[in-house]
Amino acid sequence: MDFDGFFKAELDAVREEGRYRVFTEIERHRGRFPHATRYVGDETSAVTVWCSNDYLGMGQHPVVIEAMHRVLDECGAGAGGTRNISGTNHHHVLLEAELADLHNKEAALLFTSGYVSNWAGLGTLAAKIPGCVVFSDALNHASMIEGIRHSRAPYKVWAHNDPADLDRLLSEFGPEVPKLVAFESVYSMDGDIAPIAEILDVCEKHGAMSYIDEVHAVGLYGARGGGVAEREGLMDRITVIEGTLGKAFGVMGGYIAASADLVDFVRTFASGFIFSTALPPAVAAGACASIAHLKASSRERELQQDRVATVRRKLDMLGIPHLPNPSHIIPVMVGDAKKAKMISDWLMDNHGIYVQPINYPTVPRGTERLRITPSPVHTDGDINRLIDALSDIWSQCELARGSIAA
Ligand SMILES: *Cc1c(COP(=O)(O)O)cnc(C)c1O
Repeated sequence: MDFDGFFKAELDAVREEGRYRVFTEIERHRGRFPHATRYVGDETSAVTVWCSNDYLGMGQHPVVIEAMHRVLDECGAGAGGTRNISGTNHHHVLLEAELADLHNKEAALLFTSGYVSNWAGLGTLAAKIPGCVVFSDALNHASMIEGIRHSRAPYKVWAHNDPADLDRLLSEFGPEVPKLVAFESVYSMDGDIAPIAEILDVCEKHGAMSYIDEVHAVGLYGARGGGVAEREGLMDRITVIEGTLGKAFGVMGGYIAASADLVDFVRTFASGFIFSTALPPAVAAGACASIAHLKASSRERELQQDRVATVRRKLDMLGIPHLPNPSHIIPVMVGDAKKAKMISDWLMDNHGIYVQPINYPTVPRGTERLRITPSPVHTDGDINRLIDALSDIWSQCELARGSIAA
C-alpha cells in the first residue's frame, strides 16, 4: 500500500470540506493575557484571544505562578514515576484532599488530564462492574464516549438533556442490572446546562449510579467554584463528579471525586491511572493554589459573568446571531465550515482578534460557529474592538442578522 498517498488523500478530503485544522501558533505572556503574540513562521503580530478555556485568567494568577515556582524549586521538574512507583509526591496528596473537599466527597483521584479521567474513570467502572449498562447523553464529550466504548459494556444513548428519554431507556432494564448514567453539566459547544436535579431523580428511581462531567463548570459556578451541582445543592446526590484542572483552574490535569471506596476501586483497576507518570509536583501545587483561591474568592466568577453579559448585550444590539444559553459560553452561529473559517481568518488578519472556528466533528455539520469565551481579563476596550470587528464583517459579507429563539 502507498501509505503516504492514502494519508494525503484523506487529508485532501478534509481540506475540500473546509474543516482541515490549522493550528494558530501563539505565545501567551504572563500578566498580559488575553493579549498574546501570534507567530506565522518568523513573523509576529499582536492578538487578543477570545476563545480560551482559561476562563478566569487563572493561568497567570500570582498565587498560581508563585506556587508553581516555589514547588518547582523545591521538588524539581517531574514526578519521577507513576503514582505506584515513587511518583506520589506530597503535592498530589494535598491536591486530592483539596478536590475531595471542593466537591464534598470522601476522596478524589488525579489523572494527567480531564480526557484521561473520563476515559479511565468511566472505562474502568463500566468494564469492571459485572453486567453494567451505560446510559450516555447524546452530546457527551469524546473522552466519555471513548471510555464507554473501551469498556465494551453495552450502552444506550439518551436524547440530549432529556430525563424522560433517560427514564424510558432505564426502564428497559430490570432492577438487578447495574446502571451507570453519564452526562455533563455545561455542554461546551452550545453552552446549555443539564437539568441535573431531574436527571438525578430518574437515576435514583432506577438505582443507577450518576457520573457528571463538570469540566466547563468547576471554578466557575457555585459559591466555592464546585460547579453547577454545587450551585444547585446537588453534589451529595451525584455518585462521581469529574473535572479538569486545565480550564477555569488554568493549569493541567483531571480528576474524579466520589466515595472513598469508589475512588480506591478506580485507583486499583484503572490502567490509564496506574501505568502513567504522575503530574509534575509544581503542576499539582499550581492547581491546588488555584482551587483554594477560587474557593475563597467569587470576584473572578462575578467579573466573568459581567463580561459575558456585556458581550451578549452588544451582539444583540447588532443582531449578530448567538445561541441563547445560561452559561459563560457564547456560540456565534455561522452554519457553514468555509464561512466560519473565512470570518475567523478575517478577524485575525484585519483586527488581531483570535476566535477559532468550530467545525464538524466537534459540532454537527451546518452548525459551524465561532465560540467566544469572555473572561474577567477582557477589558471594555477589548470587547468594543471585538464587537466593531464582528459588525464590520457581518455587513461586508451580508451575513444573516437576527436572534435565535431560546
Ligand atoms: C476539555 C474537556 C475534557 C477534557 O479535559 P482536559 O483536561 O482538557 O483533557 C473533558 N470533558 C469535556 C466536556 C471537555 O470539554
